[in-house]
Amino acid sequence: MAAMLSTTTIGFPRIGNQRQLKFAMESYFKGDSGEAELLAVAHKVQSDAWALQKAAGIAVIGLDGTLYDQVLDTITWLGAIPPRFKHLSGLQRYYAMARGGAALDMSKFFDTNYHYLVPELGPDVLGPATAAGAPLQPDFSGPLDKLARGQAVVGRERAVPILIGPVTFVSLSRGCELPLDQAVARLLPTYCALLQQLAAAGAPEVQLHEPVLATSEGAGMRAEFETAYAQMAQAAGSVPLHLVTYYDDLGAAYPWAVQLPVAAVTLDFLGPPGAAVPSQTLALLQQHGFPADKRLGAGVVDGRSVWKDDGTAVALLRALLDTGAVSSDRLVVTSSAPLQHLPYDLGLELEAPKTPEAEPHLPPALAARLGFAKQKVEEIVSVARLAASPAAAAAAAGHGAVVQLQRLQQGKGVEDHTADIPAEWFSRPKPYDVRREQQLQLPAFPTTTIGSFPQTAEVRRLRQQLKSGRLTQAEYEGLIAGHIAHAVGVQEALGIDVLVHGEAERTDMVEYFGMQLGGMLFTRAGWVQSYGSRCVRPPLVVDDITYRGPMTCWEYKVASAYTRKPVKGMLTGPVTILNWSFPRKDISRAAQAMQLGLALRQEVAALEAAGCTIIQVDDPALREGLPLKRERWASYLSWAVDAFRLCTGVAAAGTQVVTHLCYSDFQDILPAIDRMDADVLTIENSRSDNAMMAALAAAGYGRDIGPGVYDVHSPVVPSVEFIKSRIRSFVDSGILSGRYDRIWVNPDCGLKTRGWPETIAALRNMVEAAAQARAEL
Ligand code: GLN
Ligand code: ZN
Repeated sequence: MAAMLSTTTIGFPRIGNQRQLKFAMESYFKGDSGEAELLAVAHKVQSDAWALQKAAGIAVIGLDGTLYDQVLDTITWLGAIPPRFKHLSGLQRYYAMARGGAALDMSKFFDTNYHYLVPELGPDVLGPATAAGAPLQPDFSGPLDKLARGQAVVGRERAVPILIGPVTFVSLSRGCELPLDQAVARLLPTYCALLQQLAAAGAPEVQLHEPVLATSEGAGMRAEFETAYAQMAQAAGSVPLHLVTYYDDLGAAYPWAVQLPVAAVTLDFLGPPGAAVPSQTLALLQQHGFPADKRLGAGVVDGRSVWKDDGTAVALLRALLDTGAVSSDRLVVTSSAPLQHLPYDLGLELEAPKTPEAEPHLPPALAARLGFAKQKVEEIVSVARLAASPAAAAAAAGHGAVVQLQRLQQGKGVEDHTADIPAEWFSRPKPYDVRREQQLQLPAFPTTTIGSFPQTAEVRRLRQQLKSGRLTQAEYEGLIAGHIAHAVGVQEALGIDVLVHGEAERTDMVEYFGMQLGGMLFTRAGWVQSYGSRCVRPPLVVDDITYRGPMTCWEYKVASAYTRKPVKGMLTGPVTILNWSFPRKDISRAAQAMQLGLALRQEVAALEAAGCTIIQVDDPALREGLPLKRERWASYLSWAVDAFRLCTGVAAAGTQVVTHLCYSDFQDILPAIDRMDADVLTIENSRSDNAMMAALAAAGYGRDIGPGVYDVHSPVVPSVEFIKSRIRSFVDSGILSGRYDRIWVNPDCGLKTRGWPETIAALRNMVEAAAQARAEL
């Protein structure tokens, strides 16, 4: 056996270890620097990342890197440019598609928290249905230049271009009027032309990323894949194609996907961390085998988790070799997903803090168990070395690995996470119809807002001053109380019915809670690209989550002291906190959601004890956590909704529980929304033309509902007439048959990104519209 298995990478953080690219982009957007400076930084970030991988000993390096988003890069080299951008060119056009008024829409990339730019593939881009080719304006300079730069850094034999595959690309698009096969066919000549040029430029292989294969829909795309890959394989000639899949196993697509005419296939052996149903890749491989003429990219190093490998990776590779389906010379070790979703380097957490008292501190014992992208690259190499030696491999596989491997081999689900929690904790004391009578009664079309008010520069400055020690905690609280008083005063003056405190004290709806709960850790430099120049620092769940005392009662009490009107308590729900964090790996996500549910349940009780009778529990990320495979939705929704119910079930019958869900496409999970059993459901609605309202009405949804009446993402002030027409459309939908006191009037979402003048003007019109609608009944 070889001294070590081969290794490859399929993606790496693109923003730089110090977020250099973010700052370079922002400076360029502001006009403070030019194209040359931006490109210099971007190229340096890329070469540093590639050099790091080479230095770690990776044999073949996937050339990741982008100036904003890899889907936008694909749009650009394909020349699939919507007409409204055609008068522009170069970087100007690239960034016009990414941001500003006319920009492409953004959407979540599969089940990750990364947002990509949505390709528009209407007839104006792909040509009319009757035409033959597509009127694309390809420009291969981007991928060719990147390959040349990559070759210069890591050498010709190691530098492998990464392309988003054609089927995934079309699947991610909008507005396409052609069937999938025809749309793919229109792009194929351009894909083939690029493959030829990459081959001519000396690429030893080309990675084609097709994560759509891990979705339920992907399993139905066999014909499209077979046609596309036959053509591309021919065009590529002697250059091997490498089909790269991730985010989950291939499920029903496995038997045919591994037979596609490519030289290598990468498979995800781990799936999303803590999922109720583990990746079935090993089982699929045992059942169906693997083609003897192909290389297998084994995604065994967890690319979606910040935890170091516990021996599972080596154990998986040994199990894989034991199947006899793949020989060690055809096995290539890689990560289970591109490393772009991980922070760059754990080493940054271990450096001495600049301001000791304010910086989060990472205990060394914990650091020893963590690994960010750089450490994962090193892990790929060490795993490849260990796995090649059976003796060392046996020694490396600890108990955790054995348990994990059994789970993966048997496809066993998670342990029962609710066994010890009394069943009645998951339910409110009375059914909605009974408890609603005991709750706050208001006239038709009651008005409220979703929680946050403008986060002005002044509010953000206060937090910095507290952090740097220029304000004491008491001074800070006094000033925040002033902002709360202001928000309450504004709402009183506008005549809003149910008030909020405005969330001036919160940086972020997850961080605010994570910092106060036990078991969650914050990093100093654990930045992950959310989209373009925006990065987030997701907290890490590192231990059992515990309640350490009231988290939101102070702001509730401050606000309610200024008004006789009801003030909503404001919490982030368990599923959202979990979905926007890095979960533990030693227990299931479901179990962690229950721990959060139990902790937040105590906060609900604390708010009630403080006199609060309306409590809003935001769970906007509930839908995002849905597995890629539909057959796994039920088990996810079961624990996710249970966790929400565990949190809110403690509320007395007379306490009104409100929830807020951001994106309004819940049509396919209505039973789960219903099972949340919230007294009031507020949803983002104004951009979807009432689609969700219609679906709720058709499903006979019977509890209070607050469909957003205006878009909070735009500074445009909606008119009274506009909002009234929205309210009338809710009435016309027939929902709640005449119980207009249960149709709430509120904006789509929180107002933290808005300024005060437009906020006040919009809310004034909203209150007036509700009053007029009420009078006209
Ligand atoms: N209460 C939060 C706010 O108003 C809700 C934010 C959200 O739904 N994303 O900001
Ligand atoms: Zn929202």
